[in-house]
Amino acid sequence: MTVDEKRKMELDTMRQIMGIYCHNKHNTQRGELCDECQDIWSYAKYRVEVCPHMEHKTFCSVCKTHCYGPIYGEKIRAIMRYGGPRMLWVAPIKVLRHMFLEWQDKRSSK
Ligand SMILES: [Zn+2]
Repeated sequence: MTVDEKRKMELDTMRQIMGIYCHNKHNTQRGELCDECQDIWSYAKYRVEVCPHMEHKTFCSVCKTHCYGPIYGEKIRAIMRYGGPRMLWVAPIKVLRHMFLEWQDKRSSK
């Protein structure tokens, strides 16, 4: 997988999780984001796009650099915790692939 593909996959997964979270928590239309979530999403997208570690890591969830910062980091973690398991129903293949790559990454970094 190329760096660009990884970046795109990270963003796609994150955007889908945020869509689920916002729809359930903030009553937005499916696939849409409210202002607050849109703000978090813009920030997260920016961080992934400028991430210097993308080349030698799999995903932000296993990254040692917590580049989201304390305020957004907390919000993003809460969204991922909420939406991650629900993604299994929506896009099981995508989630399993993500989990597999994460596992591979953890194993190789030991
Ligand atoms: Zn929202």
